[in-house]
Amino acid sequence: MSDKVADKLVEGCHVLADDGQGDLIWGHVSVRDPARTDRLLMKPAGIGLEELSCDDVIAVDLDGERTSGTRARHIEVFIHTEIMRARPEVKAVVHTHPPHAVAFSSLCRKLLSVGHEGSMFCDGLPVFERTSDLIVTADLGQAVATCLAGHNALLLRNHGIVTAGRSIEEAVMTAVLLEKACKVQMLAEQAGGPKVTTTLEEARIKRERIYNLQSLQAAFDYCVRRHRARPHAGCAHHSHG
Ligand SMILES: [Zn+2]
Repeated sequence: MSDKVADKLVEGCHVLADDGQGDLIWGHVSVRDPARTDRLLMKPAGIGLEELSCDDVIAVDLDGERTSGTRARHIEVFIHTEIMRARPEVKAVVHTHPPHAVAFSSLCRKLLSVGHEGSMFCDGLPVFERTSDLIVTADLGQAVATCLAGHNALLLRNHGIVTAGRSIEEAVMTAVLLEKACKVQMLAEQAGGPKVTTTLEEARIKRERIYNLQSLQAAFDYCVRRHRARPHAGCAHHSHG
C-alpha cells in the first residue's frame, strides 16, 4: 500500500468533511493503488470522514473484496469498483450525500451555470434514477458507471452524488464544486428563479480558466491547510505536520 496515496486519501476525506459532506459515518472516497491498478484504497465503514487516519485505510479488489486492512468496507463499494473498472483513466471516486445536492436532485431541474461552479458541469450532469436505494451490488454499480459514462459527476436522485477524477484532488474538488453549484442554484430558485445564466461557450472557457487541474490542486492544498489550522486538528495524522 502506498503511504503517500493513503495520506492523500485521508486529506481528501478531511476536506469533504470540512465542506459539510460528512453524513454521520456515511460517505466514502477511493483511490486506485498506483502499484496495482486493479486494487483500490478506500475509506472503511464505521467512521466519519473527518476521523479517518492512514491506519484505517483498507484495500479492495475490483470485485469489492477486501485485500488489506482490518476495518469493514462500505456496502456501496460497487460504486467505486465498477467506475474504476469501466474507466481506466479514473484514479479516484467520491460518493457522499451533501444536503444541497440531495435536495436539488429531488427538484428534477437541470443544473445551470448560475455561478462559476455550475460551469464545471456545463457539458452535462447525469442523474441516476433506477433506485434511490443504496448501490449494494455489482450490477447496480455497473448501472451507475453506465449512467456516469464519460462525465465527471452525477446525481443519485434522492440519495447523493458521485464524482470521478484523474486524482483525489480532482474528484474531491469536483464534489465540493457540485455541492456549491446546487446550493447557489437553489438560492436563485428561492428568489424567483435565475433569469440569466452563463452561456455554454462562456461556461467552457471559465471551466478551463478556473477549474483546470492545476487550479483544483491549488484549491485542494488550500483546503488541507485550512483543515490543519483548525483548533480541533489534533489526531495523529496532523502531528506529522
Ligand atoms: Zn450512499
